[in-house]
Formats: sequence, structure tokens, C-alpha cells
Amino acid sequence: MKHFLTFDIEDWFHPEAVRHLFPMSKWESLEHRVMKNTEKILQVLDKYKVKATFFVLGWIAEKHPSLVEAIDAEGHEVASHGYSHRMVTQMTPEEFEEDLTRSLEVLSGIIHKPVLGFRAPTFSITHKTQWALPILVKHGLRYDSSVYPIIHDRYGIADAPRRRYIIYQNSQHELIEFPLSTIRIGKYNFPFGGGGYLRHYPLRLTRFLINKLKQEKIPLIIYIHPWEFDSEQPRLPLGMIQTWRHYHNIERNMQKLEVLLQENQFTYFKEELN
Ligand SMILES: [Zn+2]
Repeated sequence: MKHFLTFDIEDWFHPEAVRHLFPMSKWESLEHRVMKNTEKILQVLDKYKVKATFFVLGWIAEKHPSLVEAIDAEGHEVASHGYSHRMVTQMTPEEFEEDLTRSLEVLSGIIHKPVLGFRAPTFSITHKTQWALPILVKHGLRYDSSVYPIIHDRYGIADAPRRRYIIYQNSQHELIEFPLSTIRIGKYNFPFGGGGYLRHYPLRLTRFLINKLKQEKIPLIIYIHPWEFDSEQPRLPLGMIQTWRHYHNIERNMQKLEVLLQENQFTYFKEELN
């Protein structure tokens, strides 16, 4: 079974946990570390001959088009992570459409191909933001990978399917959803498959969870951010728990990814379309 390996290409100052410290007007003046960190990812993927999906933030693509060119030139899939990294839950439909189209214009202007996939910042396709789905279809997107079928304070659709499904369709098109990986224990789904879980869980547990998914014939969908491989990034004052959540085990993360790449087969989403 082939699993899906995905990267959300944004910098160390973009995640929701640190966003309040860095208004967009400051981004330009901060140290940009995403190129170097993404380069590490490209190298390791080349080593294992694995293709992945890269959900690139439009703002990053605009500042660093050569990064998007490099991802595309290596044969990976370039998809959209929106333009400004605002959660869909915090935008009006008009603002969302503007943010999405700006990201698509930037990306397709660089790779000269249509962009087929979307991942909302902070998994913000929820029950409340279903209005975003026809907008995705209208702009040519074929799939979304933003739904976390879990209970969470900021995001999640607790009762969403745990495997690929059609999240929206009209008379002409359908939008496929690739929900982020979860494990079902009793009545609840527990999140799994993100860079944070890879960092925090011992490898033995990660292996066990992948095997559980395989038994259910559900491919793993893993998402990792470039900053999760960067132990030299600026450390922000986040409080004890958030600091642990955000920075723990970053120095061992690449090694863990390599083990996953050795033990499993991965591909990109576009292979699954049609
Ligand atoms: Zn993001």
C-alpha cells in the first residue's frame, strides 16, 4: 500500500501558535529559513526516490519562486496552502476566494501547470466553512486535504470519514477529500500522521499506528513543515507546554522521517486522481 507524504511549505513565523507574534507586515524583514529547510527535504526525498505533495504558501512562492521551481523540477507535486496563512474560519467567503486565487496565480505562474490540490492553513475546513468547497471547485481544484476528523478547539470535523471521500460535488465536478490520518479508539478518533506526532511519538508507536491503519486498508497521510527539521530556528517565548509541543525532538525528526521512508512506500496525491 502506498501512503501519502505531504509538506506544508511555510516559514518558522507562520504557524498559528506563533502567528500573534508576527503580523504579516513584519514577515519580509524576518530571517527566511524555508529555502534551506526545504532543500533538506528535497535531498532526503531524492535519496529514497520518493515523490511528495508540497502545499506551498502563496506568500512564500512569491518571495522565493526558485524554491517552487526546484520542487517542481524534482518531479514533486505543487499544491496550494493559500496565500496569507489565515484560517478559513477567520475569513469571509470573498476574502477566502481572493486569498485562494492569489495563491493559485502565483503557483501556476511559476510551474506553468494547473494546481489540483489545496490544504487550508491550520486544517480550517470545518462544519462552519463548508462554503469554501464550491469556491475550490470553481477555481479548478480537484482535491482538498484539510479535514481532520477529530475533536479539537481550533479545527476538525469529528464525524468526517477517516478515509478518502467526496466532500462536495455539483453537476459537473467533484472534490475529493483526503482527511488527515487518525486512529480510532472506542468512539473517538485520535490525530496521528503530522510532523508534531512524528516528533513526539516514539518510533515504535508510530510503526504500530501505521500497521493499524494498514489493517484497515487506509493509507497514512503525513504532513510535516520545513521548520520541523530546523533545530537552529529562533526560539520563541511560547510558555512551557507550547514550547514543548512546538520544538520537542526537532533535532531527531529527519532521522525519523528517513526510517519511515525506508520502511514504507509513499507517493503524491495527484497519482490518486482519476
Ligand atoms: Zn500551514
